[in-house]
Amino acid sequence: MLHDITPTIDESLKVWPGDTPARREVMLDLARGDAVTLSTLHATAHLGAHADAPSHYGLDAPSIEARPLDLYVGLCQVITVPAAPRSRIRLDDLRATVQAPRVLIKTGSYPDFRTFAQDFAALCPTLVDNLSAQGVRLIGIDTPSVDVFDSVDLPAHRRFLAHDMAILEGLELSAVPDGLYELIALPLKLAGFDASPVRAVLRTLDEKRGPA
Ligand SMILES: [Zn+2]
Repeated sequence: MLHDITPTIDESLKVWPGDTPARREVMLDLARGDAVTLSTLHATAHLGAHADAPSHYGLDAPSIEARPLDLYVGLCQVITVPAAPRSRIRLDDLRATVQAPRVLIKTGSYPDFRTFAQDFAALCPTLVDNLSAQGVRLIGIDTPSVDVFDSVDLPAHRRFLAHDMAILEGLELSAVPDGLYELIALPLKLAGFDASPVRAVLRTLDEKRGPA
């Protein structure tokens, strides 16, 4: 079974204030008598469920096409962490043993992808350090950022850079029970880009075979 953890992309999907929302420009249209329907997507690369590249927060750091694909495919653990508005989640808040190299944190603090609420919870920089020490290579979150909204120095993002870990933001985790899955969330091969939208899914583990 596949859980789709990707919010639908349309013009009502909120992006970071000041960033470019999705817009579909129809260039050709079968309904108007054209030979095909053909449309252009205008949008930020940080659109809905997306992978941040290190170049988003590190000067001269790798852009998204250069990232190893195995970061984004494989065994993954969903952990619910009820978090106060604008708080930063710490290791003590997890109340679950980390059992996978990819961890998705379900804060429930950004409940509506059609309304940009600025009071979402985020990650404590020390949590990124702690999970890195436990072998975690990717952390995903159900909010627009791993840092709180008004953060200027982005301390959590900086720890991802220090450990060469991967970030997924904007995941729709509300319908997914905690537990182990196979994550598939590949970024597009966008040369020079600081992020890419992903179609993120969680596959239920086959108890006999498990994920690769
Ligand atoms: Zn981002």
